[in-house]
Amino acid sequence: MDFKIDRLLYTIFPFLPESQNFVEKNFNSIEDLVSGPRETIIRGKTLRRITNALLNHEIKEINKISDPILIKEELISYGLARLIVSCIKNPDIIKRLTRYESERAFFYLINEGQEETGSAANFKDFYSPLSRHIAHAIGIDIEGNRIQLVNYIDCTAPLHETRWNLVNRELKKGYVIISNVSHSDEKDELIELIKQRIQYILQKDLPKKVPSSLCQLFAEEINKTNILYQEISLQNFGEIEEGAFPPCIHALIESLTKGTNLTHAGRFALTTFLHNIGMNVNEIAELYSRSPDFDISKTMYQVEHITGRGGSGTEYNAPACPGMVTTALCVNRDKICEYVNHPLNYYKKKKYFLEKETGGKSKTMNPPFPPTQSSH
Ligand code: SF4
Repeated sequence: MDFKIDRLLYTIFPFLPESQNFVEKNFNSIEDLVSGPRETIIRGKTLRRITNALLNHEIKEINKISDPILIKEELISYGLARLIVSCIKNPDIIKRLTRYESERAFFYLINEGQEETGSAANFKDFYSPLSRHIAHAIGIDIEGNRIQLVNYIDCTAPLHETRWNLVNRELKKGYVIISNVSHSDEKDELIELIKQRIQYILQKDLPKKVPSSLCQLFAEEINKTNILYQEISLQNFGEIEEGAFPPCIHALIESLTKGTNLTHAGRFALTTFLHNIGMNVNEIAELYSRSPDFDISKTMYQVEHITGRGGSGTEYNAPACPGMVTTALCVNRDKICEYVNHPLNYYKKKKYFLEKETGGKSKTMNPPFPPTQSSH
């Protein structure tokens, strides 16, 4: 393929080998960077990138950058954002960042098509030389209208429509044939696959193993990212509603209230769940004061560690249902459990139903749990 990507596009497609080569040739080390004269600017760009991703910032335009210094800084901020989310190790934050990066690339591809054809709706003209170049780089054969089976499986895993199921696909010599018939503008399958494939590629090697000394250099950015993520989670879940807790979490709380010791997996599941729906460290620790072996300093240490406040910056997510089954914590399943694969999804669903039933006036937990029954 003869097409040569313009340097102006490196920052829009930072994952391409050409972009990576550019930054490698112009970059010494992270240690130099964080003590260099442009440190504040680069840190700012990095944080803005992560913030935009977490806030699901709508992409309305993308500016091409021509100044080589600015190109370099943008590309570094792309790399640093990946480094920071690797330090945090939160799969949801990683997913949001990679989705944001893939949407930027995708937005430009679509609009580049529009510029060239003058038509926003005609996706036959989508396949410009640039689109073909990108598709080729990520393993999609636009000319042959096909994608390798293994690549297809990887990138369609998050797509739930039955049309993506392999049984509904034509397979030829290790390739999946893609329909090029547009059912509607958005339904052009190759376009959807390009976007999915970019996100898959960006996500597949994250989190990277980053030495803790390197993570320490970005402690401030890590902390700000964790705080923002927590605020967003709180907004998503709203006020705490005990009546919407899934049966597995109810069972763990009941065990604590009865004074039974929880297993390590049980403590982890309960702490992460409560943290993910917005309870703070003190509220969670207070709950543990019902446990017969309650030790305030040990409890605070464990809770702070799990919630990312304990120095490592790693914030853990509540385990999904399959994990809960493995650790024998999935108990008292009910009807809603049939439709969810994560206790947090159960909580969201049940909360929605409760609020619908009560016209938005469902009972909230305040204080979050009944007072401690036993004295320790
Ligand atoms: S299916 Fe999921 S939400 Fe329901 S009890 Fe089991 S782990 Fe909890």
